[in-house]
Amino acid sequence: MKKKLSPPNQLYRGRFAPSPTGPLHFGSLVAALGSYLDAKSNNGIWLVRVEDLDTPRCSAVAVDDILRTLDIYGLHSDEAIILQSQRTSIYEEALQVLQLNQHAYPCCCTRKEIADSALLGIEGPVYPGTCRNGIPAGRDAKAWRVRTHQNVIAFTDAIQGHISQDLEHEVGDFIVKRADGYFAYQLAVVVDDAYQDINHIVRGADLLLSTPRQIHLHKLLGLATPSYMHLPVVTNSQGEKLSKQTLATAISKKNVSATLCEALIFLGQHPPVALRTYQVNEILAWAVAHWRPPTLLN
Ligand code: GLU
Repeated sequence: MKKKLSPPNQLYRGRFAPSPTGPLHFGSLVAALGSYLDAKSNNGIWLVRVEDLDTPRCSAVAVDDILRTLDIYGLHSDEAIILQSQRTSIYEEALQVLQLNQHAYPCCCTRKEIADSALLGIEGPVYPGTCRNGIPAGRDAKAWRVRTHQNVIAFTDAIQGHISQDLEHEVGDFIVKRADGYFAYQLAVVVDDAYQDINHIVRGADLLLSTPRQIHLHKLLGLATPSYMHLPVVTNSQGEKLSKQTLATAISKKNVSATLCEALIFLGQHPPVALRTYQVNEILAWAVAHWRPPTLLN
């Protein structure tokens, strides 16, 4: 694993990291556009990374469709696109570092066992620590968890402000490798952001509460923590986040200029009405020049 210290005044490097479980919907366009504009208005590099780690839920068709849609919207990655499904050995190395330093331990608990004995945290049951000091005799462990500690993890988000989380009590020791053999998002995202030298993360606020887990992993792996900006989340008329589960529809590949302008308006920008009739590259150039990150008051 590469270890990083963040030199001051380094070049801005940001990214958009979609999970290809379905086509690009308006919520993912907003995240892609927000991260792109923040990077480009800071003369930065912007990357696309495909987070197809949970292979059974992802599809090659969705990967192609997302990449094609981003292209149509003028959002081109500045460097080669990496796919998480091809990087398992890198995540294995990071897990080994955690194992060697006793930061990770094997866990044999089933979901039901955890649900039966756990207190409720911010994302469901908090792991009660059953396997923290070793797995019970006769049981097989396949999953790996990371130890959390009593300290509070805090950071300042460029939009959401001061965020703090008592990781041990609000989340608990969390999974980094699942019982089915797949690495967890939390580990992969941290390893890849460090590998790609990402120093600014701009993404949807649905991931805000995952951030302290990622900062905890940065500390355990000796990696620099990037700065964070969590954008407002697009919801449907029932107030649910747009996603495959909530049956979000794909964004249009034809009505591109108008859709881009709508995404800009969602992000609190004020595109002139006439911009809707402009070409994609002209709209993006206007948006880069006028980008002001949204505030909570938008
Ligand atoms: N792949 C994640 C998602 O689509 C986003 C990861 C990230 O931006 O950190 O929800």
